[in-house]
Amino acid sequence: AFRNKLTFFAAAKSSSSFPPPELPEIAFAGRSNVGKSSLLNALTRQWGIVRTSDKPGLTQTINFFNLGSKLCLVDLPGYGFAYAKEEVKDAWEELVKEYVSTRVGLKRVCLLIDTKWGMKPRDHELINLMERSQTKYQIVLTKTDMIFPIDVARHAMQIEESLKANKSVVQPLMMVSSKSGAGIRSLRTVLSKIARF
Ligand code: GDP
Repeated sequence: AFRNKLTFFAAAKSSSSFPPPELPEIAFAGRSNVGKSSLLNALTRQWGIVRTSDKPGLTQTINFFNLGSKLCLVDLPGYGFAYAKEEVKDAWEELVKEYVSTRVGLKRVCLLIDTKWGMKPRDHELINLMERSQTKYQIVLTKTDMIFPIDVARHAMQIEESLKANKSVVQPLMMVSSKSGAGIRSLRTVLSKIARF
């Protein structure tokens, strides 16, 4: 699926402007600066072409991309901007909550976690929401090149352990580095299984 052409087709500021769900959908979520753009670029090798805004966290829209009419990739607004105003946070929350809990065709949310920083309260908030709405999600540790492999493994085990009782999480957790390319092929393989053939 990831060899196919990527095209941007919709940006939504509210649920009324979500496009009709015609394809299996995979959404990407995480804190600002977690490496989401870099990961989407590494996965599709075409992100730079379609990316319109490089200020994630400021544009509160959900962006929809068609991958060769086999998958819909969805870029959720980054959260956790220290200087974001309360109303911006509320707007993000509402939009993402609505998307995650009501979206038909949403097969998987990749929740990106920076390997170095681990899970933060807002990551847990999103996890709780996905558990409540029974949305399938998987954890993707990013920037694994930044710390020693043994520490990556330790963080991974801690996170897997902390999610053990959760029902909607898809294990195992994935580990990637967009910089070195480690784990990118494995993640592509896992996500391709969701695509329409
Ligand atoms: P986004 O805000 O989540 O879209 O994050 P970006 O993809 O823009 O990345 C944020 C910062 O992290 C940038 O300075 C990237 O160069 C850096 N970055 C992203 N992925 C990696 C990675 O795999 N390894 C390293 N070392 N840095 C990364």
